[in-house]
Parts: sequence; structure tokens; C-alpha cells
Amino acid sequence: MTLPTPTGFALIDAHLITNTLHHAGATALLVEHGRITAVGDDTEIEALALAAGYPVRNAGGATVTPGLFDSHTHPHWAADVTRGVDLGGLGTVADLQAAVAAYAATLPVDAWVLGWNLEFEPFEATGVRGDLFDDAVAGRPFAAMFYDLHSGLANAAALTAAGVTAAPVFEDMSEVVVDASGALTGELREPSAYQLVFNAVPARSHEAERDALRDMFRTLAAAGLTGGAIMDGKPRTVDLIEELEQRGELDHRLVVHHWHAVTDDDAAVARVIAAKDRRGRLWESDGIKLFSDGVIDTGTAWLHQPDTCGDGVHAFWPDWNRYREVVRAYHDAGMIIATHAVGDFAVNRVLDAYAELPAHAAARVHSIEHLEVLADEDLEKLTGSGVTASMQPLHMQWREGDDSDNWAVRLGERAATGYRVRDVLNTGTRVTLGSDWPVAHYDPRIGMAWARGRSTPGVAGAPVFEPDQRLTGEEALLAYTLWPALARGHEDRGIIAPGALADLTLWSGDPVAASADELVTLPIAATVVDGRFVYDAL
Ligand SMILES: [Zn+2]
Repeated sequence: MTLPTPTGFALIDAHLITNTLHHAGATALLVEHGRITAVGDDTEIEALALAAGYPVRNAGGATVTPGLFDSHTHPHWAADVTRGVDLGGLGTVADLQAAVAAYAATLPVDAWVLGWNLEFEPFEATGVRGDLFDDAVAGRPFAAMFYDLHSGLANAAALTAAGVTAAPVFEDMSEVVVDASGALTGELREPSAYQLVFNAVPARSHEAERDALRDMFRTLAAAGLTGGAIMDGKPRTVDLIEELEQRGELDHRLVVHHWHAVTDDDAAVARVIAAKDRRGRLWESDGIKLFSDGVIDTGTAWLHQPDTCGDGVHAFWPDWNRYREVVRAYHDAGMIIATHAVGDFAVNRVLDAYAELPAHAAARVHSIEHLEVLADEDLEKLTGSGVTASMQPLHMQWREGDDSDNWAVRLGERAATGYRVRDVLNTGTRVTLGSDWPVAHYDPRIGMAWARGRSTPGVAGAPVFEPDQRLTGEEALLAYTLWPALARGHEDRGIIAPGALADLTLWSGDPVAASADELVTLPIAATVVDGRFVYDAL
């Protein structure tokens, strides 16, 4: 099957936010074969469309911005993880048990019971234990992911089905947790541990998995997203994206970053590099994603000074030189590197590793993902580093105003050095924003609202975290449009101009003029990818 031929259309009576200094007062644009070919007033654009035989869409005064791009997302994983019951926002073990039991009742008696979006706070009194859910699932295997995707939980039936009968030793920071008596608790820290269990979950059919990914992209489009950077790419992810495009069912522009596991050997690195030039009309796959540390909540982030539990002093890698070595290999191959670094010392070390990479013609601008905590010395190191800071201020949604949350308790006074987006911008570093979906909600309006307000949008009196770090409405939009395009070297994306890709987001109002509170409920009127309306409520 061949791709549907992209044709053209005109959009008139629009309020354009172009992200350029040109076309002030323009109200219309022409799209042909996936690109914007003209920007102007209604009369001239309508005339061009009529001459070419293209339809004319009246935007009815809607605001049109360059398409929104999520710089850190896991849609393939999300399509899988979100199969089970959403356990987010449930504050007690009893609430969790009730939700799991209600969901389990809808499943066959021999089915695995899956959940996602667990939070840590409900387990403060009991500890994280799988047996808390044995009754709720009536003895069936139960496995759930925590919201941060760094920890999982399984009951004994699931552990047994996965063949996990004792705590293995991992080369990275992963851990199958045991209690004082040596018994498995069901808590699974970091991917190598929880994948033992989740890999044992019966797989969906190929068609079901492919269609779930297609539908996931359509869900994202309905929130105004036109593309994203996939941060956990696997060969299978690329296969499915390619298949969706061949079927004419790919509605998202994508960059796939292959997931490099700490244990990957030179042969694995060579395989990824050999496949880096796989691409399609809407996607490329020459990115790599590595971890340098874990997360604050489990004490696996790499910090200058230990957290209040004495954790946070270890690298994710048994040998940091191996990280430097593989980064060098991917860099030399011309790939774009994204390294997860949450803790301040992790950011510091990754900046050093990037700084020692040789300049060459194929060199790309590499990124650091998260930069959740930063010391002043790390900001100094960022200055002039040329890296992209890919940040997610909406992750502050799990903070408490009185610093009683686990994240803030572990950090102590350093909680005030969290999510320093304004400080990072002030170093001259390019900032991109993203969700880390399904860690946090994919909706870019929520992401922008948190970057702007640093407070739960729409909740009067909600605590504001470090208000001096807030972004303006314009900056938040740029960090979802033009800045990620520039960070990846694309001059024809993130702008509305002749020659630019026709990836557009249509809003029922102005997302910059709207307050952060108003923004989250501002309806998306339509989403255009490659010149096609992939979501259309206009
Ligand atoms: Zn992520």
C-alpha cells in the first residue's frame, strides 16, 4: 500500500502565531504536499487555493501555531502500560485495593491483572508489598507500574509466573527487593528488575499492539500534539511505526531514540548504529537514549551530596568509563544522544562527558533529559555547553506545598533547586519541554501550564513552587515548537513560513494570551500533520 498523496488546502480567517518576525498580520496560509507554501491575507491565499483547485477551510478566527512537539515521550510503552487500571491519585492502600478488585472483576479468571500510575505515598505505613493485592485479584498474577516508570510491584503469583523466586544480582542499580527475612516483597526497582515480570505478561497480538500504537498517536493528536521524541525506542517500535506509515495510519512526526541498557555490549551498540538510518516520511530513528542515574524518589538519582536517607551517591553504571565509551561511539556515528540525568551530580558528569566529545561534521546537539535538581556549579557548567536541556516542570505535580512529599524529604533544602527552568534559560541553554508520558499526562497544555505557573493549573490557592523559575506564555509555546526543532537542527519546523513542514496546531483561543489556568481547558480545534488533518474539530 502506498501513502495517500498529500494534496493541499488553504486555511483562512486564522490568527497566526508564526514564531518568526515575518508575516505580521497574516491571517491565512496555503499547504501543499505537506508543506506550507504561502502565508498571507485571506484574499490572496484563497485565490491561490482556487487556482490550484484546493479546498479552503475557514478557521473561524482560531489561533494557529506550529505543531506541538513533545520532547520526551514513551507512546509505545504507554500504549502497553496503560492497558491496565489507572491507579493514579488514590491515596490509601484500601483505595488501591478497591480499584484493583473492581478492575479484576472485569477480567477472565485466569488473566493477569495489570495496573499503572501507582504512587508511593499510600505505602508509607505498609511498605511496598505485592501481597497487599492478593485478595483484590483473587490469587491471579498482579503487576503494576509506579507513575515514574522506575519501579514496579508484583504479587507472588506474578513473580512465580515470571520465574522470579529469589532476588537476582543486577549489573545496574536495579533491585528485586527483599524484606528483613529475605522474602521477596514484590517491589521491583528500576527496569532490569521490573522487566523480569512485565516480560512474562502474555503479549498482545501483533495487530492489537500495532493498532494500540496507532490509536495512541491519535489520542496525542487530539491534545494538539503533532510529534514527539520517543525515548525508549526498540527495534519493534521502529518496525511498528514503519508498518503504520506503510498502511497510511501514522499520524505523528517522530524521532526514535533507541534505548541503550547499561548492560548492552559492543555488539548491541554496533547493531543500533547499523540501523540508525532507518527512516520514513514522518520519522527518523537516529537517536539514542541512555541513563546516567535513576530518580530522587527511590534514592537512585546521582547527587553531589547524599539525600536525607544517605542515598544518591552511586552512578547507574558500574563503570562510568563505559558510559563515556558508548557515548563516544554513538557520537562518532553521528547519532543524537539524550541522557537521562535527574540528580545534580549526574548532570554535572554528563556535561563533562559531552564536553570531551570531538567536534566533527556529523556532530549533533546532544541533550540532557530532566535536570531535575541543579546546583549553582552545574548551571555554570551548562553555560556555553551547547547541550539541550529537556525538562518537565509538570513533574512538580507530585510535590506538596509543605515539602512533606518523599521527593522533597529526600532532597531536604535542595528541593528549592528543583526544576530550575528559568535559571537554565538564563545560562543561554536551549530548553525543550515534554511530558515523559506515561510518567505524567501527555497533554501539552498541562505541560505548558506547569512551566508557566509552577502550580496545579485551575486550582485556586495551590502552592506555587519557586515562582521565580516561571516561564512566560510565549516561552512555554516556543519550548514545545521552535526550540525542539532548532535543538534537532531543523530550520523548516516549529515555524509558520513558506517552506516549513505543515505540522500545525489549531486552538479555539490564543494559547499565549490565555492564562496558565485557562490554557489547560482551551479546546484544540484541529491538528495537522504533514498537511493532513489528523484531528479535526474545526
Ligand atoms: Zn522518560
